[in-house]
Amino acid sequence: MRRIVANAVIWDGANEVRHGDIVVEGDRIAAVTDLGQRSSEPRTEFLDARGKLAIPGLINAHGHAYSSLARGMVVPGYAPTSFAEILEQLWWRLDKALDPASVRASAVVAAMESARCGVTTVIDHHASPSCILGSLDLVRRAFVDDVGLRAAVAYEVSDRDGPDKARLGIEENVRALAEPPDPLHRSAAYFGLHAAFTLSDETLAAAADRLPDSSGVHIHVAEGPEDEALSLAHHGIRVVERLDRFGLLRPTSLLAHGLHLDEVEKDRVAEREAVVIHNPRSNMNNAVGAFDLAGYLRRHVSVGLGTDGLGTNLLAELFTAGLLQKHLQRDPLAAGFDDLRRLLFDNNPEIAMRAFGLRLGRIAPGYAADIALLDYDGPTPIEAGTVLGHLLFGVAVGALRVSDLLVAGRTVLRSGAFVTVDEARELACAREQATALWKRVERGGAR
Ligand SMILES: [Zn+2]
Repeated sequence: MRRIVANAVIWDGANEVRHGDIVVEGDRIAAVTDLGQRSSEPRTEFLDARGKLAIPGLINAHGHAYSSLARGMVVPGYAPTSFAEILEQLWWRLDKALDPASVRASAVVAAMESARCGVTTVIDHHASPSCILGSLDLVRRAFVDDVGLRAAVAYEVSDRDGPDKARLGIEENVRALAEPPDPLHRSAAYFGLHAAFTLSDETLAAAADRLPDSSGVHIHVAEGPEDEALSLAHHGIRVVERLDRFGLLRPTSLLAHGLHLDEVEKDRVAEREAVVIHNPRSNMNNAVGAFDLAGYLRRHVSVGLGTDGLGTNLLAELFTAGLLQKHLQRDPLAAGFDDLRRLLFDNNPEIAMRAFGLRLGRIAPGYAADIALLDYDGPTPIEAGTVLGHLLFGVAVGALRVSDLLVAGRTVLRSGAFVTVDEARELACAREQATALWKRVERGGAR
C-alpha cells in the first residue's frame, strides 16, 4: 500500500523546508515531492496534511518509563538534602514496589505520552528489582506491540539490592539483547547498568564478560557529585577511568548526564567515542549541576538529548537546554540554534540508527517512515533558516499538538486520536495501578 501525506509543510530534519507530499511505501519514505508534482497511482491512501507541519519523528535518547506512575505521589518523610537521598527516598522506594502490572501500565503511559509529543523512538532505562526477569519484555511490548513505537530497552543492573538482584539484572539484559529482531526494526536493546556508585568491581566484570562486542552499555555517569566522590573513596580512581578499565566506554555506549566529569575524563570519553546524553530539565529539577555543553562539543563528543523520565516533550527539553546554557554563561548567544539542532536532530538519529539498524530522523527517500504532523500554522514564514525558531519559540513554548503520527509507515495517531490503543481505558488502568503502587511504596515493599 502506498500512502501520501499530502499538502504538508515538510521539514526534512536537516536543511530543507518544502510544501508538498511525502510518499510512503511500506515502512519507508519513497519520495518527497513539491506541490503539483503528484503522480496519480491506484491503491493510494491520502492523508490530508493541509495546515500541518511535518517533522521527522522525535527520538528520546534516555527515558525511564517506570517513573510514569510517580506523578503526584506523596512519599511520607520525603526530605532529601542530596541527589543520593532523592534516589533513596523516592526512586528506589518506587522501583522496589513495581510489580508486572504496574511495569506494564507505566510503560503504556510513557509510550502514549511520547506519541502525543511526536516521539517515535524511545531509549528506555528500566528498574523493577522485585520483578526483574521478563520486565524488559513488558516494557518492549507496551511500547512496540501496544502503542506502536520503537523502543530500545535496558535493565539497570545494580548492587544496591544485593548480588542476587545484580545477577538477575545481568541475565535480563543478556536475554533482551538476544531477542530476535522485530521485522519492522522497532525493538532494540542496550546492556543497562545503573551507575558506577552502585556497582561493585565484581558486577562490572560480570557485566563486561556478558556484553556482546557489538553492544553498548546504557549507564548514568556522574549525574550527582556522589558518583565521583564514592569512586575515588572506594576505588581510588574516577568514574570514567573505572568504566574504561572494564572496556565499557565504546562508540555504542550511552553515558547519561556526565555532569561531574573532570577535563581528563571528558577527553577520555571523546577518545573512546562514547555518547553523552544531556537531560537538562531533570538535572535542574534534581539540582545536580549544569551540563558543560560547550566542553563536550569542543571535543566533538556526540551529545544526545533525553528526558530522564521527566515528561516526554523533547522539543521543550531542547528549548530548556538552550535556556540553561544562556543562563549559566550569562550569554544570550550561548547554545545557538545550530548546536541545539545537532543534539535532537543529528545526534539522536545517529544513536538510534546504530541501535535499530535502519535510517531514522529525516523525511527523505530511504528513511524510515517515522513522521509527526504538528497542528502548527506559523505567524511568520517557515523556511529552512527559521524552522528551528518555530519549533522552539512557537511549538515548544506554546501548545504542542501532534495530530498524526506514523511509525514504520503505520498509523499510531490519526487526527489526534490513537488507532493502536484505547487511551481512556489505559489511563483508567494506570490510575488503578498507581493507587495500589502508592500503597506499596508507603508500606515499603513489593506486596
Ligand atoms: Zn536516568
